[in-house]
Parts: sequence; structure tokens; C-alpha cells
Amino acid sequence: MSQYRSFINGEWLGTTSTLPNLNPSDLSDVVGEARLADDALVADAIAAARHAFRSWSLTTPQQRADILDAAGTRILQRKEELGTLLAREEGKRLAEAIGEVGRAGNIFKFFAGEALRIGGEVVSSVRPGMTVEVTREPLGVIGMITPWNFPIAIPAWKIAPALAYGNTVVIKPAEAVPACATELVKILEESGLPAGVVNLLLGPGRVVGEALVASPDIDAISFTGSESTGRAIAVKCVTSGKKVQLEMGGKNPLVVIDDADLDVAVEAALDGSFFSTGQRCTASSRLIVTSAIHGQFVAALQRKASELVVGHALDKATRIGPVVDDRQLQQNLKYLKIAAEEGGQVLGGERVERPTRGYFMRPALVIGTDNTMRINREEVFGPVASVIEVADYEEALAVANDTPYGLAAGICTTSLKYASHFRRHAEAGMVMVNAPTAGVDYHVPFGGRKRSSYGPREQGTYAREFYTVVKTAYVKA
Ligand code: ADP
Repeated sequence: MSQYRSFINGEWLGTTSTLPNLNPSDLSDVVGEARLADDALVADAIAAARHAFRSWSLTTPQQRADILDAAGTRILQRKEELGTLLAREEGKRLAEAIGEVGRAGNIFKFFAGEALRIGGEVVSSVRPGMTVEVTREPLGVIGMITPWNFPIAIPAWKIAPALAYGNTVVIKPAEAVPACATELVKILEESGLPAGVVNLLLGPGRVVGEALVASPDIDAISFTGSESTGRAIAVKCVTSGKKVQLEMGGKNPLVVIDDADLDVAVEAALDGSFFSTGQRCTASSRLIVTSAIHGQFVAALQRKASELVVGHALDKATRIGPVVDDRQLQQNLKYLKIAAEEGGQVLGGERVERPTRGYFMRPALVIGTDNTMRINREEVFGPVASVIEVADYEEALAVANDTPYGLAAGICTTSLKYASHFRRHAEAGMVMVNAPTAGVDYHVPFGGRKRSSYGPREQGTYAREFYTVVKTAYVKA
């Protein structure tokens, strides 16, 4: 059994207080044990990052690019092994877990290149003899608070740009997934990252997360997680003058129009709603379907969903792995009960037993719902999708946008007219045409509108908005 510790100024440290890391596919498989950090270790980690910032922020782009590139290579070389670890600790089925590790490796490679592309602008001044130069500088010490659902990709897409632009890091991963974060930090160390530049803290949000948010020595917080936690963090950051970036929930619509290719629409819904056990903030949780195709679509989707093999994440036949933990499983089942009480018809969604004891449930489709029901307004975060029947495209668009969230939105149609109109009018940060709402490229901006996101976008070249500060210099000849 592995022991995980916090990584502070190049040393692995922890208290005697521990938390087991259990495999949600097999609760008898103890993946490891985390030795938790306390307030003193949090303070040490922040001090280390602050100290390391002085020299790291002055390294050359080449030095930073070399380390990021080496880390990316190591991650990609160990894709299968790290994917297996991810599947064990989080329950994502192996193929998806390996895919996530690949994404993390590619992100480091991408930002290795970005480190070399930090340019500025020279602007003509309105005053005689003056030149204006606009440059970007590192922001400082970045506190990162990450969730369990992408245990290596999300830390990667925050750490890689932070380092590329010359910042130092204190990261607190979710309690359920210490192993992936530990391996990532080890890889950075092996790739030549100096002590103190990335510090890892293992511990509960209420202790370690809150201490990061409260610290005056942290310049910015990048958070991905639930909406309630994110909002509370944002208020504290604004009060203390920290830059803040939040990625939170979604209630993503996938619209299916009469003229859609039925196979394409069913595949998009199946993947978007149920893959990764629906535990993606971009999951297609509201399927908004026009009347003429509704019956056919529901029948085909229900048949395909009932064929999905639910099982152990490491079993090759599995298409849907377990739910991450008992709390999440209970939440999923609670929402199905509420949906039924509100008049929806629940197809599937039963809790199932497998040879190993774990948190298994069948994917659930809730039909006969309308957009005012709780199942269509609140994020469930499980393999649960509801179907809303609408008359036509206009009603579909109105229903799609009638939500407090705005992360991703999709449409399945063979009509350029509807696809173009939806792309322009969907109130979401990301729009997909004939594709699931989940599953995005690693080199382009990721983020949403309304209550889904706050602050600058993550990923791609747009990540620099958050991880740098702009300086405007006036030079008189
Ligand atoms: P979930 O419900 O999916 O676990 P959370 O928002 O609670 O989502 O968790 C996302 C991350 O936020 C985790 O790393 C968690 O430990 C952390 N966290 C939880 N509560 C707080 C808090 N009060 N302050 C800072 N971080 C927190």
C-alpha cells in the first residue's frame, strides 16, 4: 500500500492523521493512504512557493520549456501505468483513464511551447517622443484547488500554464485522489523542477483549501469544483484582492432536431450523458428533443444505454465504471427519486451488485420531464440524463438556454441553418455540433458562462490571461 504525503520545498512531509484511498470498483482494494497536512505544513508550503518565486520567475523561457517538455514526455511514456492508477483511485474505466493521462502529457508539451511564445506589444504613443510597451509578467504564487473527477488532467491544465509563465504553485487536490497528484508532482521533480516551485498539500477542503484562500501570500486561486464551494471562495478572494478563476457546474443541453442523423444523435447522447459515469461538468444532462424524432430517439437511446456494461474500471468489457463514492451514489439515487416524484419516468438507474463490492449503478434516462423539474435545474453529476420533448427548434433553443448554467451546449442536426443559429445563440462557453457536449481538445479555451464559470478561461493560449499580469511601460527617447 502506498503512502502519500505533501510535497513542500522538495520534501515529502505529513502528519500522523491519515485518510485511506479506496478503489470505488473494489472497496477491498486500498490504493493507498494519505498523511494529511495541518496548518503548519500549509504555511510552510506557501512560504516555500513564495521564496521559490524569486528565482523561478527569472528563469529563461528555455529553462521552463525544457522542464515542461520533459514532464510531458514522462507522463506520455507512463500512460498505461498512470491510467491504471487513475482507474483504481477514481473509477474511470481504463481506456478513458489512459486517455486522460495522455491529455495531461499533451498539455505539458503544449505549454512547453507556450513558454517560448510570451511576447508583448510595442504601441505608438499619443505623446511625442514616447513609446509604449505592453508586456506580461508572472503573477506570483498560485493556489490551486482541484476536484476528483479528472485527477491528473485538471492539475495538469492548471500547473502547466502556471509554470510556463513563471509562477509558483501550491496545489490541493481533492481528498479522494491523492495518488495521481502525487505521481504528477514526482514527475515534475524528476524533470528538473527546482524545490519549492510546485508544492502539494493533501488534506480536506475545510482545512487546507480554506487556508490557501485565506493566505495573504497567495496571489491567485484557480478552483474547479462545486458551485457552492466556488462561490464562497470567490467572495473571499475578492475581499482579499486575489485574482480568482472558477470552473463549476453545468446542466448542459444536447438538442436533437427532427432532421438529425439518429445514429449520430444517439451516440452523442450516450457518450455525453453516460461515459465517465456522467461525472463530467460537461456531461449532456438535458436531452432536448423535438417531437417528430422523440419516440425513435428515446427508444434507440434506451436500448443502447441498457446494453452498456457496468463494472470494474479495469475490466476490459466495462463501458461504465463505478460512481466515485457512496455520497455521490446516494445523491444520484436521490435525484432519481425526486424526478419520479415530480412526474418523470425513470428508465434504468438501479444500483447493481458486481463480484467486487463497489458503487455501481446502471445509467438512467428520465423521460417525460419538463424544464422546471429539479432534475433539469440542478446538477446531479452521475450517469443520469433527462429527456425534454419540445415542439420545434425555437422551443428547443429557448429551453436549452433556460438554465442558470452555461458551460457546454450541443445540437444534433443535418441542417446548416439550425447548426449556425444554435452556435451563435446558445448561451454557453462551448458549443458542439453533432458531437457530445463532453470531450474537448486540450489546446483551446475551456470554460463557460453564467453560473458555470468565473474569471478568465483555462487552457490553450487563453490561459495566459489568468497566469500573467500586464505591464505597460512608457519610454521617452
Ligand atoms: P465536490 O462536491 O465535487 O467534492 P467540492 O467543491 O466540495 O466538490 O470540492 C472541490 C475541491 O474543493 C476539493 O479539493 C475540496 O477539498 C475543496 N474544498 C471543499 N470545501 C472547500 C472550502 N471550504 N474551501 C476551499 N476548498 C474547499
